[in-house]
Amino acid sequence: MKKILLLTTGGTIACQPTADGLVPVLDGAALVKMVPGLASLCDITSRELLNLDSSNIESKHWQILAGAIEKYYFDFDGFVIAHGTDTMAYTAAALSWMLQHAQKPVVLTGSQQPITMPNSDAPANLKHAFAAACDKVPGVMLVFGNKIIGGSQAKKLYTESRDAFVSVNAEPWADITQAGICWRPRFLQQVERAQASPQFGFKVLSALEPRVALIKLIPGLAPGIIDYYIGQGYKGIVLEGFGAGGVPNGEQNWLPHLEKAVQVGIRVLCATQCMYEGVNLHKYPIGTWAARAGAKSAGLLTTEAAVTKLMWELANTK
Ligand code: ASP
Repeated sequence: MKKILLLTTGGTIACQPTADGLVPVLDGAALVKMVPGLASLCDITSRELLNLDSSNIESKHWQILAGAIEKYYFDFDGFVIAHGTDTMAYTAAALSWMLQHAQKPVVLTGSQQPITMPNSDAPANLKHAFAAACDKVPGVMLVFGNKIIGGSQAKKLYTESRDAFVSVNAEPWADITQAGICWRPRFLQQVERAQASPQFGFKVLSALEPRVALIKLIPGLAPGIIDYYIGQGYKGIVLEGFGAGGVPNGEQNWLPHLEKAVQVGIRVLCATQCMYEGVNLHKYPIGTWAARAGAKSAGLLTTEAAVTKLMWELANTK
């Protein structure tokens, strides 16, 4: 039997109703007990790391998760993290950068309905998450509804629906059907090739720079907000712009502010509000000039992936 470590962090999956709304209370053992057949699928140990609505999760909590996986890495065959759905895409992306060359599955899951509710999506999500953690595909992934998504490619699109997440700019790793998990063949071949010649060992690089801001542009937004972040000592800014990316240079001219940020050593990444197909800074002058001023493109990264990657890179690269 495979040995799987369940790390709980709170979220709707573990909630009970209160007068003020849903509050996470259930521990890992209680979650496991609610899923018929789970205890006979693998040997499960659980640890309660946090008990939070995931809106309260911060970068220090991602470090707690990475630290737990580092500590127990050699004692288990795979890891399941039960997490609130609201910021699960951020946590999954952050762990994708922090857990370098993970040779074991690290599976995040949660649910839209508490596990104690009739017809909750939690038992199925947990069952599939544990099945993925027992399987041969390594790395950080998010198991939810009808698919498995790479940790740095997920985005929550729906506040209520069961298939709440999409895989952005990359195909999902697997589909979940009545028959169970069907890994996509193209992806499986890549995994097999990588496993045949492992070049790198598992390493946890858990330093993160929390002073990273996300600025979402709206038409006509004044650029002074950049000066605010410069004044506050921020080290990175993700500018979530429009379409192919770039920064406005019209009546509201962001370029001098961007140049100033770069001059004081702030790393600036241009991301896009378009969900698919990413940034192309060289398509229009607004992008060309932003790049000339020192901004970098977030490419095909989601905003969640861009923000967490910037936090990670600032702390781990010169
Ligand atoms: N507010 C909850 C959370 O993210 C939502 C959920 O888990 O579905 O913790």
